[in-house]
Amino acid sequence: MSKGPESLVREDIRALTAYHVTPAAGLVKLDAMENPYCLPEALAAEMGARLAAVAVNRYPDPVAEPLKARLREAMAIPDAQDVLLGNGSDEILQIISLALARPGAVVLGLEPSFAMYRMSAIAAGMRYEGVALSHDFCLDEAATLRALETHRPALVWIAYPNNPSGNLFPRDALLRIIARAPGLVVIDEAYYAFSGGATLMPELGRHENLVLVRTVSKLGLAGLRVGCAIGDRAWLGEFEKLRLPYNVNVLSAAAAELLLAHRDVLDDQTRRIVEERARLESALDELGIERFPSAANFILARMPGAAGVFEALKGRGILVRNFHGSHPLLANCLRLTVGTPDENRRLIEALRSIAG
Ligand code: PMP
Repeated sequence: MSKGPESLVREDIRALTAYHVTPAAGLVKLDAMENPYCLPEALAAEMGARLAAVAVNRYPDPVAEPLKARLREAMAIPDAQDVLLGNGSDEILQIISLALARPGAVVLGLEPSFAMYRMSAIAAGMRYEGVALSHDFCLDEAATLRALETHRPALVWIAYPNNPSGNLFPRDALLRIIARAPGLVVIDEAYYAFSGGATLMPELGRHENLVLVRTVSKLGLAGLRVGCAIGDRAWLGEFEKLRLPYNVNVLSAAAAELLLAHRDVLDDQTRRIVEERARLESALDELGIERFPSAANFILARMPGAAGVFEALKGRGILVRNFHGSHPLLANCLRLTVGTPDENRRLIEALRSIAG
């Protein structure tokens, strides 16, 4: 009997593919929905001084109340709702999946959506079922309600706005799904900052089975790895038991506390990204490239020979995300993260010259 992973690692885990990140050194990085702006020099220096004073010999504050208080303020979290911190919202997805992984439990996701919903479900030993969006990435409410009946999922993931399509689903339809779901519905609002204020935050407290997920990643702090779940103490108290005691490290907590106190800087960068998104959309329209409406900091575009266009862009020093081949609805689709005005100009010029 072999003592190697082929006989000891669970088969469903061996069948997974690790989350893929394309090396980006030297490229204009428009593949990962990051905020493209650096911190202003004075604020970066203040952060340096603040971090220098952090006691790295000590474990982090396991409760991290000051960071939670900053998040409450930055995200307008109602006092009645609890906050659970994650090492990025990725970790929150994992914690929630683990908590709901009773034997035989099913996770339902919309397809295509964020890959980690399925990955976390499988890692937790749950069965994952996907419900396809329509051909233009709209919610198929009837199919989703049917899937709730057929599969009786313990957990439903909905990204609002959705990744990689960038669109918002109708709020009323989400409320009907929450009402009909037999289990927990998690609304992942990672891209809230770009959505024009679309949120189900006011719905917390009105539904026993609703929890929200947010992150600071898309606000310009992706490197810190700070995300959170927001919801009733009854749910978050259970999730808390699965959170590793010191999951947010001292440097991240200190930096996030400081930078969220300077939200004006991050908000201004977000505003610029939203303005640039509109410019990028018009430029794509002028080039006659099909694109889908976005309420996020990226645009999904479809073009003939997308895989070749992806490589040609890379050859011109620009990295976007190629979704061709990952899901039938994403045939010939590239996801373009909104960059700085200069980066977006380079992207459009490159697309124009490739098309020519
Ligand atoms: N949710 C969605 C919908 C995402 O697209 C992402 C990142 N791409 C995440 C969650 C994870 O974000 P993070 O772990 O950086 O908080």
